[in-house]
Amino acid sequence: MNLLRSAASLGCVEGGRPSVNRPIRMTNISAMVGVSTHLAYGVFYLLSDFHVFWPALVVISIAILVLLTPLLLNHRGYPFAASLVMNLGTQCFLLINLYAFLGNAVGNHYFFILFSLLPLITLPRKAWRWQYPLSALALVFFFLTFRHTPPWNLATALSQSVLFITYYSSAILSLSAVTIVMGVYQGLLRKSEETLEDKTIVLGKTIETVTRLAATDGLTGLHNRRSMDELLALEMRQAVQVAGDFSLILLDVDHFKEINDAGGHETGDYVLKELALLLLGNVRRSDHCGRWGGEEFLVILPKTGLAEAAKVAEKMRVALEERKIRVPGGVSASFGVAALRPGDSQDALVRRADRAMYQAKNSGRNRVFVEDAALKQGPPTVTP
Ligand code: GH3
Ligand code: MG
Ligand code: MG
Repeated sequence: MNLLRSAASLGCVEGGRPSVNRPIRMTNISAMVGVSTHLAYGVFYLLSDFHVFWPALVVISIAILVLLTPLLLNHRGYPFAASLVMNLGTQCFLLINLYAFLGNAVGNHYFFILFSLLPLITLPRKAWRWQYPLSALALVFFFLTFRHTPPWNLATALSQSVLFITYYSSAILSLSAVTIVMGVYQGLLRKSEETLEDKTIVLGKTIETVTRLAATDGLTGLHNRRSMDELLALEMRQAVQVAGDFSLILLDVDHFKEINDAGGHETGDYVLKELALLLLGNVRRSDHCGRWGGEEFLVILPKTGLAEAAKVAEKMRVALEERKIRVPGGVSASFGVAALRPGDSQDALVRRADRAMYQAKNSGRNRVFVEDAALKQGPPTVTP
């Protein structure tokens, strides 16, 4: 069985496309079955009746040659040519076989089953049209030989006992060959389906990972700018549909350049990661936190009004102040808050949050500014 399997894979590239490997395998299997069946016949004819020694030898040699060519072509890397040769060769051989041996009694016509089915298995469905005229021609010959026995019909040369054995053995051999090929084919198909299923699962997981990575900021693990843009559009659309509250908080780390300059880039990165954790710890599951720029973060708050969003921002500001981030002088941030207005565009809303954040910066940093200065929170004194 292992030998059959490795011979069947002759010409297959490991990990190659299944659509290419399938015709290669099937052509190989069909060729091997064809060769072994004919060898069995050859030995039987040659040993049983010397009347048919030479014709049998010629026909069997042609058959074996025709069937071995696809194996060779597959091995050389021409799977489609192999498939075609296999089909055309077997059909031509079928005609010779029928005409020379069939008569009306020998029983080689059971080969018709074998040679009509094998090529159909090996050929991709698209190429079946090659098969129809040849099969039709073979059928015509098949019936013609029943009516008009060729003058040199070899059936007449065979003894009754040989005829009898040939008749039934050809049926059994042909049907067994087809059964074996079908069985192996089913097995291969099942295996390739399983492989395909495994690959689909791996591919699904890879796509999931890639999609997640494409939407994630590498340093903080929060949503990246692109993902936030998409989420913002989505959440805004939903808020507009239900005419619900919707707010944004935009925050920027104060004097971040100094943190970087004093402690190095790693310290800056550490601060950004700490800030990301802090933001996540202070929002609801339905909110979205993302890195908007270098040390600038955006928080999307669906179903949240301006006053409520300002409270969330203040909570974050205080939490940052109180958080033990190992940086000399501590870390603070300035917050801008804006809420959705009727007819608002995404850009307009973000711009208002940005403007509020710069107002917070300009008024001394470490504070929350609400758009239009309608609401202002934060420590009265400027923190260094
Ligand atoms: P302000 O209070 O006005 O916001 O001052 P700032 O120093 O925070 O602002 P500025 O825009 O002058 O500096 C931002 C710095 O953030 C400059 C840039 O090198 C740094 N930065 C941007 N992205 C990263 C990052 O991923 N890691 C680190 N460590 N630094 C970053
Ligand atoms: Mg800054
Ligand atoms: Mg900045």
